[in-house]
Amino acid sequence: MAKIILTGDRPTGRLHLGHYVGSLRRRVELQDSGEFDKIFIMIADAQALTDNFDNPGKIRDNIIEVALDYLSAGLDPEKVNIFIQSEVTELTELTFYYMNLVTLSRLERNPTVKSEIQLRNFETSIPVGFLNYPISQASDITAFKATTVPVGEDQLPMLEQAREIVRKFNATYGEVLVEPDALLPDNSVCSRLPGTDGKAKMSKSLGNCIYLSDTSEEVSKKVMSMFTDPNHLKVSDPGSLEGNTVFTYLDAFCRDEHFEKYCPDYKNLQEMKDHYQRGGLGDVKVKRLLINVLEDELAPIRARRTEYMKDIKGVYDILRKGTEEAQKAAAETLKEVKEAMKINYFEDPSLLEAWEKKYN
Ligand code: ATP
Ligand code: MG
Repeated sequence: MAKIILTGDRPTGRLHLGHYVGSLRRRVELQDSGEFDKIFIMIADAQALTDNFDNPGKIRDNIIEVALDYLSAGLDPEKVNIFIQSEVTELTELTFYYMNLVTLSRLERNPTVKSEIQLRNFETSIPVGFLNYPISQASDITAFKATTVPVGEDQLPMLEQAREIVRKFNATYGEVLVEPDALLPDNSVCSRLPGTDGKAKMSKSLGNCIYLSDTSEEVSKKVMSMFTDPNHLKVSDPGSLEGNTVFTYLDAFCRDEHFEKYCPDYKNLQEMKDHYQRGGLGDVKVKRLLINVLEDELAPIRARRTEYMKDIKGVYDILRKGTEEAQKAAAETLKEVKEAMKINYFEDPSLLEAWEKKYN
């Protein structure tokens, strides 16, 4: 069976470190591994509209930001198809049919949707489109017969919903769809990177992000004001790693060679952690290391962004071409789906024959 990737992001803002460690960095490795037959990367504008329907300008503006973030993070348009979700109308059509296969109570039980409803104060009046977005996400995945979906942990309930829809569809209409697997980061810290405020998830909606396109001054400022151990008042005090976001970020980004380069007092992160816990290591020194480590990762991304920004027409063309390719692939699946559902009236010559036989 072909190995196919589908994944994406909502154009509700520029991409941040959570996206990077949760999925984006992995996508670049996978694209370069040569193991995949096709890779589709979706800018999920239609999904973003489910909770931003009254602010379409924000979604429109951020499409180019997300595209620039993709390219600057190293996604290569020769190897991946970057496309805009709403332009592939087959996805909406699939959603319409999949809606029959899912109950309302099943959607209401989805833990990610539940917490997002709370976050957006939708408790008293949930837009139907928002509640429905896990179904639309199942369409996105299955339209490309994706086998692999690299995502952060918050997306696991969406993947489960997609798998259920595939099983129900195939059992009802015949084997057409492919069950996808989630691909989580190997490092559990990266599955759900906390925000700079220490909150459970770095998220555009929470405003606690370090963006891939932040300047080095912005990154330094954000790291310097980051949450550590509130009881670690004097350098000599023993410090705690529990909920200490600076160390969590080091867990996500730091490698042994960074110590040789920026902090030769320690061989590796464990030695630094031990010293912090014993007492005698100040937060500023740890934060300085983190700034250097992040700078190592972000400087090349920032530089590539500057180059792509000089050729926005080129980026636009990449989106157009990627969207055309995606549309072709989704149309093939939709054709099979309609055939299996027996709603391919004008493509099935035996139908006319059967009708004629009935009445003539
Ligand atoms: P929004 O607040 O608009 O939902 P978001 O910051 O949650 O935005 P999404 O576009 O919903 O970002 O997520 C895109 C991808 O990035 C998903 O695969 C998601 O799992 C991953 N992701 C987002 N935030 C994090 C995070 N903090 N840690 C790890 N992965 C993340
Ligand atoms: Mg999200």
